[in-house]
Amino acid sequence: MFGVCFPTDNSPLSTFGLTKRDKPHSTNTSRKGSMKNLTIGDVTITSIIERDGPWRRPEDMFPAYDAEIARRHLAEFDPEVFDPASGKMVITYQTYVVRTSKHTILIDTCTGEDKGYPPPMDFPKRPWLDGFKAAGLRFEDIDYVFCTHLHIDHCGWNTVLRNGRWTPTFPKAKYIFHKGEYSAWEESTKRGETRAGGGGNVWRYNCEPVVEAGQALLVADDYQLDDTFWLMPTPGHSPCHCCVNIRSHGQQAIVIGDLMHHALQCREPDWSTIFDWDPAQAARSRRKFLTETAGTGKFILPIHFPHPTRGLIEADGERFRYKFVR
Ligand SMILES: [Zn+2]
Repeated sequence: MFGVCFPTDNSPLSTFGLTKRDKPHSTNTSRKGSMKNLTIGDVTITSIIERDGPWRRPEDMFPAYDAEIARRHLAEFDPEVFDPASGKMVITYQTYVVRTSKHTILIDTCTGEDKGYPPPMDFPKRPWLDGFKAAGLRFEDIDYVFCTHLHIDHCGWNTVLRNGRWTPTFPKAKYIFHKGEYSAWEESTKRGETRAGGGGNVWRYNCEPVVEAGQALLVADDYQLDDTFWLMPTPGHSPCHCCVNIRSHGQQAIVIGDLMHHALQCREPDWSTIFDWDPAQAARSRRKFLTETAGTGKFILPIHFPHPTRGLIEADGERFRYKFVR
């Protein structure tokens, strides 16, 4: 989740902490900005973009922000990740499409359509639908949907409004939710809490109808779909946030969800966001992941990193670097 908080009851959604200038560049979602296909072994991975462009200022996003430290890091970053004119980080919202010889799988489903979310989360639906079509897909082609976590921008296309009811978008798909993540948002919703990113209508519209339709698999930390896909718990940003590992013929890619929102968090792994459920735990998960992944050659697929998106982690003492694979 990146950029909005909202109430958990049925009242009209509202944002706070955002200005008009934070409105997304809704026309800036051209296909040319999409990640190139990544092939590992027998698996092909591509992305469908919902929106991209400058989004938030790092000083608004990271409570531990330090201007001098950030200035140093930003000066050495790839130009794609920061917009000096607005002082904002460049942030993409996307879904990964993973094709194997057996399955077509989506990982994370952006914000979706008809949800009634307030600006700036009212992204136009057309770019995602066009990208889905351009990938040669129909809704009935999807076999599985993984959600790294159940925030507003990761489970939106899980459902569509049909005859006044929220209905699973992909009629033949099983949706894989971590059972602890699902129950935490269910309980938070039923307590009437206001939490960043999830619960409330996000849970009611995007998650509960999938379970009620019998299309959800509520799984544990050690869930493995087959030899190709398995979960890796990385809690903190949300209660039971998970990365999705993808392996084929000795090569590996990892969809990291919101374990990181920006390359700044490779340089400063302790910089958690204002949207984290448990910022300290998010920082521990991030540092552990970066330590274990650096230098392994595993491809990293963050949801919110802009084109060219995919990258490798390199260690640099106590810090890390994100190296785009172009
Ligand atoms: Zn997110």
